[in-house]
Amino acid sequence: MGTLERMRLVAERIAQAKRQGHRLVVVVSAMGDTTDDLIDKAKELHDDPPAREMDMLLTTGEQVSVALLAMALHRIGEDAVSLTGWQAGIRTDGTHGKARILDIAPRRILDELDKGRIVVVAGFQGWTESGEITTLGRGGSDTTAVALAAAIKADLCEIYTDVDGVYSTDPRVVRNARKLPAITYDEMLELAHLGAAVLHPRAVEYAKQYNVRLVVRSSFTWNEGTLVQEAAEMEQGIVVRGIAYDKNVARISIAGVDDVPGVLARVFGALAADGIDVDIIVQSGVKDGKADFSFTVAASDRPRAMKVIEGIRNVVPYREASYEEGLVKVSIVGAGMVSNPGVAAKMFETIAAQGVNIKMVSTSEIKVSCVIDNEKYQDVVRALHTAFGLDTAETAYVGGPAERR
Ligand code: ASP
Ligand code: MG
Repeated sequence: MGTLERMRLVAERIAQAKRQGHRLVVVVSAMGDTTDDLIDKAKELHDDPPAREMDMLLTTGEQVSVALLAMALHRIGEDAVSLTGWQAGIRTDGTHGKARILDIAPRRILDELDKGRIVVVAGFQGWTESGEITTLGRGGSDTTAVALAAAIKADLCEIYTDVDGVYSTDPRVVRNARKLPAITYDEMLELAHLGAAVLHPRAVEYAKQYNVRLVVRSSFTWNEGTLVQEAAEMEQGIVVRGIAYDKNVARISIAGVDDVPGVLARVFGALAADGIDVDIIVQSGVKDGKADFSFTVAASDRPRAMKVIEGIRNVVPYREASYEEGLVKVSIVGAGMVSNPGVAAKMFETIAAQGVNIKMVSTSEIKVSCVIDNEKYQDVVRALHTAFGLDTAETAYVGGPAERR
């Protein structure tokens, strides 16, 4: 909802659904660039603002939207009530900036629904046992929506966004990107983690865990969206469903660490304690009792991660710590990979044919990721999209003979 005009249209759409007889809980995010603007303001005052105050600030964005949307609904004759995260009973842990929902006590929401009201809930926010306001991480309104859908056992959770579904890859990079009619929870989870910004990863985790029927669709059109569902309900045979890339990647390397038990535990324990997510970890050969390893973090976490690494030098002595930025992680994702050998090899060949060097690799049962320089990543994504037959649905790569596992 970028403007008041948009908000009126959204209100119309909600009213229409209400008149069809649905009981509705509507979770809204902040308007337009509100959250970004608030972050910019905070950063003007302080280059590393206290996380608690940041949450206090950012949650105002959603509070503005719920109140305005409820008013817009009243204006067209609908009974609506706006609720903050606290009023909606959304309790989280205390990790400011990326809190996790612990439980939801939806009493108030259910009461309001029983009164025939449309309930408008502020997304992205919660509160802790000790009464602090928290936020769930950027894009966290999706998570609020899915978690609430699970808590009130909703029949359906529709996520309205500015794209009309989940695409085989980023349409801005690949003109032939296609909208997927359906995708599995696991595939969506991978794509969301890999930076396909269409859904917040935690929202997908919740949906999977509580089996919430989830549809991603556009708030601007009436087009059918993408259904996110259990693998068993999917059409079989497609090996690679989507390609994602993440430009926010930094690599940190630590050289000359003692090759003794507990080193990795200490390094990654310290990073975790600081709330830094580590992605790909590679340990290379041991020489003279010393090991080298490197790992990736979000480029935005890199300064903090380096600080942590410098801070533990007395506990985990090393020769040198360095970092590299301007990296991109390109990933292919598909539940069908599990039973198809040769998928990774095909990916490596395709990247090599672009003359691009692969710096790190990681795989899971349904994903292969390669870290490369950012120079030619768009060419790589396009080439992979073609190689795996995603340019046209008919030629989708179905792989070699299924492997017995
Ligand atoms: N307003 C928050 C953000 O911009 C939450 C959301 O959009 O879902 O990250
Ligand atoms: Mg937002």
